[in-house]
Amino acid sequence: MVIRIRGRALPHGEHVDLYADGDRWTTDPVPNAELVAEGWLLPGLVDAHTHPGAEAVGDPLDDVMLREHLRQHVDAGVAVIRAPGLAGEPPPWFGVDPDTPRAWHAGPWLAQHGQFFDGWGRRADHAELPAIAAAQAARTGWAKVIGDWRSNGEPVPLDVLTAVVRAVHAVGGRVAVHTQQAAGGEVAVLAGVDSVEHGMLLDPDLLTRMASQGTALTPTLAVMRRSRPEVSARPDSPARRWYLRGADAHPSLVAAAAEAGVRVLAGTDSLPHGRIIDEVRALADAGLRPHDALAAASWDARAYLGLPGLEPGAPADAVVYAEDPRSDLDQLAHPIAVVLRGRPVRVTRTA
Ligand SMILES: [Zn+2]
Repeated sequence: MVIRIRGRALPHGEHVDLYADGDRWTTDPVPNAELVAEGWLLPGLVDAHTHPGAEAVGDPLDDVMLREHLRQHVDAGVAVIRAPGLAGEPPPWFGVDPDTPRAWHAGPWLAQHGQFFDGWGRRADHAELPAIAAAQAARTGWAKVIGDWRSNGEPVPLDVLTAVVRAVHAVGGRVAVHTQQAAGGEVAVLAGVDSVEHGMLLDPDLLTRMASQGTALTPTLAVMRRSRPEVSARPDSPARRWYLRGADAHPSLVAAAAEAGVRVLAGTDSLPHGRIIDEVRALADAGLRPHDALAAASWDARAYLGLPGLEPGAPADAVVYAEDPRSDLDQLAHPIAVVLRGRPVRVTRTA
């Protein structure tokens, strides 16, 4: 059965009337199509930084848990995820099962010896890192490198990360880099990585360069905001001071990034899954216009991953709200319908 949605489509707000021809939107009317929802239409939400499939840090990937986490994402209106690091090899249905989001992933995190969480990721010598990253990107399109670690884990040297970027780009892939130190952030930007993950304590003077070379920022604001009280309650230490300094500076850094024209992506990083709304709210609280906070979690993130928006020929994903979510972000908690690959996977109220 063919489904139909209509209403005003973001980002521009024009009236559209769309039919799902399999997994493609079309404006050609289909007789007897079922109108599943009418309202404000977004081309599906995107969580650009999530690690589904494991409950605790270091745990192996669990297929049942993976499916449950992805269901939580879909229920929140997420039609696309990017997993910059997974706890194991995903099952063949990952990213293609009709009830789960489209997915990009970077395989295991790639880290220097002595860094990152025990049990997760792959450690590599500097000399072998470019080839390992390129092989990963050739398989899945992305490689994820732990660029620095916590308060005092030495950053990957600039010449090494530059070689990683060159090797990955040579196979048509992209590089995402975790950084939470000023020094590691500088290395990531100077190496020309495709996306900076977290970007805590990044020097704001680097934002113009990020914008001009097309390096995106996934700030994971909400998870940092959520961790802050717990870190703050710890006894004083260099690590505590480092985290609080970074967390407190992060909202204004993100606002400055958006102002400088850096592409900002919404990512939730940590449990619970299906909380993209928290990141959109955090981006708006940091000072992004609601329009731009939504873009980071929808049409602009899709464009970054090569997916068009609500237009003929585009993949048939959508999330429908009763009111314009730009004037009320709480709408994100109550989608009328979530359409994934041309199928209504969640409908709470028929049109
Ligand atoms: Zn992460």
